[in-house]
This record gives sequence, C-alpha cells and structure tokens, in this order.
Amino acid sequence: MIAGVPNHRELIEAMLSYDLIGFQTDEDCENFLSYVQNDLEFEVRDGVINSSFGRTRAAVFPIGIDPGKFAQQATKAMTHPDVTRLRRSLNGERLAIGVDRLDYSKGLVNRIKAFDKMWTLHPALKRSVSLLQIATPSRGAIEAYGNLASEVAKLVTDVNGVHGEVDWTPIRYLNKGFGQGVLAGLYRTAQVGVVTPLQDGMNLVAKEYVAAQNPADPGVLVLSKFAGAANELDAALLVNPHDIDGMARALAMALAMPLTERRMRWEAMMEKLNGGTIQQWFADFIEALQDTHTTANAALPEPPSLWPRRTADFAARYH
Ligand code: UDP
Repeated sequence: MIAGVPNHRELIEAMLSYDLIGFQTDEDCENFLSYVQNDLEFEVRDGVINSSFGRTRAAVFPIGIDPGKFAQQATKAMTHPDVTRLRRSLNGERLAIGVDRLDYSKGLVNRIKAFDKMWTLHPALKRSVSLLQIATPSRGAIEAYGNLASEVAKLVTDVNGVHGEVDWTPIRYLNKGFGQGVLAGLYRTAQVGVVTPLQDGMNLVAKEYVAAQNPADPGVLVLSKFAGAANELDAALLVNPHDIDGMARALAMALAMPLTERRMRWEAMMEKLNGGTIQQWFADFIEALQDTHTTANAALPEPPSLWPRRTADFAARYH
C-alpha cells in the first residue's frame, strides 16, 4: 500500500533519520522491512536498516495499558451520573458497547449491519439487548470523513426504524467524546464489548474493555482479527469484520456464553494485559532506544550530502 502512495520514497526516507522505529505487531514490522529492502533497496540485516541516513532499528513494541488503574477507574465510575443514568435506563436489558473514532478503518458500517442481522435472526434478542455506540468525531473537515458520518447516521436511523418499538431503541448512537474515567464505567456496564475494525495497528479500546470488567461476572469481547490487539487477546471471540453473518453469530454467541467460559476467557486476557503494561512498554522502548543510540553513534557514517537539501525541499513542499 505504501508503495502506491505518491512520494512514498521521500516519506519513508525521512523516517530513516530516526534511530529506532517501533511497530505494534511482528507482521507490521516485517512488512516495513521487506518494503525498505525490496522497494527502497536499502540493506536490512537483523532488523537494522543501513541507509544513506544512517542506521535505523525496526522492532516490535506492542503498546499496553495500565490494567490496574483502569479496573480502579471502572469501579469508581459506577457511581458517576452518566453511568448510573445508563444503568437505570436499561431496566435489566443487556448492553453491547462500541467506542471508536468516527473513522473508516473502524468498521462501523459493517458492525451496525451485523447488529441488524442479529436482531433479524434472533428476534428474542429484540428488547433484551441494545447497542451503545460512541462514535467520537474525527477529522470532520475531510470530505471522506463527513461522508462516513452521514452513512453511519443513516444506517443507525434505518436499523432503529426497522427493529425499534414505541418504548425501545435498539441503537443509542452518540457523536461525542467521554473522559476515560466515565468510559471505564460504561465498559463495565456492558455485557459485550464490540471492537471490529477493518484494520487497526493495536486498538486500546479492546484492552480497556477487558480491564474494566467485573472479575466475578466479566463481559465478552468480540474482536476483529485484523486489530493488532488480537495477537495478545486471542481468548476474545475473534471475528472477520467483512463477514456480517459471522459477526451476527459471534454476537449471539457472546450473549449466550456461560459464566465459567466468560471467566476463563477474561482471566486469560487479563494475564496478557498484566504481562504487557504501558509501564513495561515505556521501559522497553527507552531501553531499546538507548541501546540503538549507543550502537548507532559508534557506527554513524558521515551525514549524507543530500540530507539537508532534501529536508528543505520537503519542508517547502509540505508545510
Ligand atoms: N477515548 C476517549 N474518549 C472517547 C473515545 C475514546 O478517551 O470518547 C480513548 C480510548 O479510551 C482509547 C483511545 O481514545 O484510549 C482510542 O485508542 P484506540 O487505540 O482504540 O484507537 P485510535 O483512536 O488510536 O485509532
């Protein structure tokens, strides 16, 4: 994909002035290295790129969260007015939650179609399960994003029109952002977390949903296999976000999952989250950067003569 982008060479060459580039997954790192080797024709050895801009190390640093802090925030947020109002409004009904930037990579259209399919295939889930979709506005000035916002809003209206009742709205759709403290409480209130991007480097919402659950009665995470988080959270119900029927089946399965299986999956996911916290990520990255910097300084070639000219050019064209 990057080889299809205009000026891809200049864009990536600019990145090669860094000592260290971190990726979320092995696959992303390998793709980058093979592009640098095959398209840019720089030498790559043991994850280190030798270019006219010096040595750059590419390595994998999957970003984590602070699971302990999120769990605490979630417990505390249960008394927050937004969370208590949500719980009261549910009247015993179960809830699925999605929290995303309003971005085409997040798979919102397919997700809403999957809920439509689920209510069509399982009419018993009407009135008993609803979706709270928080879609935070993002890059609204760009036409493609504006078009996506209209498409999703129309789809939500259509699905609510078909499945809704005088006293029941299937999808609560909010175009605004929430603080993480409140989000933690909203995650904990929902029996299913729906994270179904078409493509995502990592996806922190998936990790936050898991960390916010009540250990005694945890919810189920339905996760796209194309999110970087799926590498670690493989105990989630993994779905193909292009397969609407498959997602509808996974949602119904999540809603029917017995407590023992929910707990088993949740504990396996928490073990992964506790093994790769944000604190660990930070320490690993800084350590690797210090190592790389020491090695790079020892072996740094003379600055290439084309570098200053190209920087000036680049700045003039893009700023
Ligand atoms: N987030 C937030 N308030 C919102 C929506 C999202 O604080 O209303 C946070 C969320 O808790 C998460 C981040 O934004 O930490 C989104 O990260 P993610 O990796 O899921 O997606 P990105 O937006 O970076 O593609």
